[in-house]
Amino acid sequence: MEEEIRLLIIYTGGTIGMIQDPQTGTLKPFNFEKINEQIPELSRFNYQLDFHSFDPLIDSSNTNPEYWIQLASLIEQHYESYDGFVVLHGSDTMSYTASAMSFMLENLNKPVIFTGSQLPLGVLRTDGKENFITAIELAAAREDDLPVVPEVCIYFENHLMRANRTLKYNAENFNAFISPNYPLLAEVGVYVKFEKQYILKPNFKKLKVHKKLDNRVGILKLFPGIRPELVHAVLSVPDQRAVILETFGAGNATTEEWFLNELKQAVAREVLLVNVTQCMAGTVEQGKYDTSFLMKQMGVISGYDCTTEAVLAKLMFLLGQNLSMEQLKKRMNISLRGEMSVV
Ligand code: ASP
Repeated sequence: MEEEIRLLIIYTGGTIGMIQDPQTGTLKPFNFEKINEQIPELSRFNYQLDFHSFDPLIDSSNTNPEYWIQLASLIEQHYESYDGFVVLHGSDTMSYTASAMSFMLENLNKPVIFTGSQLPLGVLRTDGKENFITAIELAAAREDDLPVVPEVCIYFENHLMRANRTLKYNAENFNAFISPNYPLLAEVGVYVKFEKQYILKPNFKKLKVHKKLDNRVGILKLFPGIRPELVHAVLSVPDQRAVILETFGAGNATTEEWFLNELKQAVAREVLLVNVTQCMAGTVEQGKYDTSFLMKQMGVISGYDCTTEAVLAKLMFLLGQNLSMEQLKKRMNISLRGEMSVV
């Protein structure tokens, strides 16, 4: 007899778990022990579904690295007892949290599917019900006794995506996330069409959970007319270890001398500078234009086709490992969890 599939549903907060207070009309988290009242369909699954609710529940805008460590630790603690995990999370920072999980959970061989919703479960037209039910199906999907998607993903509005390739790009459509530089892992309609060639393969190694994150990183979004004082302030924050430069197009920035000097000084202070494009899709190609050649020359590294969310999570993860600058650059330049297209 086939063994029953066991999934742990982790509720962290966010819109999906809210209902309207009949008295005040405001949205508030509902008691997750009563989830079956909200989604009676759950009892029709032939899986063992267990629930863990974070306390306190948070709006995902309040998340932070400590919270990510708690989440990764929870998955570690229950890793052997479950076949997969569904994480219900606010959509606002879901790409950040899920990207962080992808780096923190090394040798992950089970599905960790993040989902949420734009409208609360308690609202008639909610997108949460479909997202939740399908995320459960995706986490439970198996073939030849192996999980079909043994990686950290986001499932939202018919699309299963590699988490560290996603970003939230729409604040009100149900279709809120995209994976601009990597194909969907599955498309869900009448059938669930897995794109197996794009899904990571299990490596059968023991899970290793990394719980040291270093948040001494910054993001500097460039814009025409940016003041030298602003660039200086971000690059010279005390103890700063890395700064993501959000540049134009294929990785371009002003070639004004003051700007290049600020970058040079930051590099001299051992601040790692990573060039990520402000464009939603495409890749950084340092050296293609004059306006990125000089950055490349002075040691700014390319973020290639990574999202800012993924680079931020990767930096916090790698900086937490006390690597030398050389090792750090080396690891930034390779894809660790499928977060960049290998060049
Ligand atoms: N502000 C909410 C959050 O991210 C929005 C959502 O859940 O979609 O927690």
